[in-house]
Amino acid sequence: MIYLAGAYLIIWAASFVLILSMVQRQSRLEAELKALRDRLRGQNLTWQIQVASLHGRKFDRAEMLSEQEFYQVGRFIARCRAEIPVEELPVAGSHDIGYHSDRLGRYGELSDWPGCAAGIATVGLLSDGRVKGCLSQSEEFVEGSIRERPFREIWTDPKAFARNRRFRPDLLTGTCGGCVHGPTCRAGCADLGFAASGRLYENPYCFHRIEREGKVPIEEIW
Ligand code: SF4
Repeated sequence: MIYLAGAYLIIWAASFVLILSMVQRQSRLEAELKALRDRLRGQNLTWQIQVASLHGRKFDRAEMLSEQEFYQVGRFIARCRAEIPVEELPVAGSHDIGYHSDRLGRYGELSDWPGCAAGIATVGLLSDGRVKGCLSQSEEFVEGSIRERPFREIWTDPKAFARNRRFRPDLLTGTCGGCVHGPTCRAGCADLGFAASGRLYENPYCFHRIEREGKVPIEEIW
């Protein structure tokens, strides 16, 4: 694991995790992503890039990626996918990198974002028996423990996994409220949106929102 102080991305390459950060933020981020990309090329690895969100005391809010940096990461991924043969290095953003960009090209494994699958198509089981819809989610999303209830009972509980199962478009707030993609997007990644906004249905980490508000960073930077 590589650890440096500053804003963070979690980068999964095969079975190891690298945490990058920036002291001089954008230029450092650019340099490290490019260096890592070049190091991984041709190594028979798959590179998935994931944004680190605020859980517990691990990160300070000031260390989160800015919206400009977030967009630049999306641009970096899209360029990697367009320019590097998949046999040499498959690159994709995780589910917390999106959504519905009209400009970036392909940055994820899915051609279209169908909404967070936690508790609908995926489930995460922690080593201590606790159950979440997705292992990336924070403690607030724990639905129970198989040490206390059978898994089937947790999964079929009509009150469980409510963020995604009981979603309604009118629950969207802030920058997601009234979004044309809202009914299917459901404010993107539940974990990152909640960590960033403190709300279940509001996610500032969104390419569509950045583009809609004209906050796209200058292209030449990367
Ligand atoms: S603004 Fe919110 S609902 Fe709309 S695409 Fe972005 S994350 Fe999804």
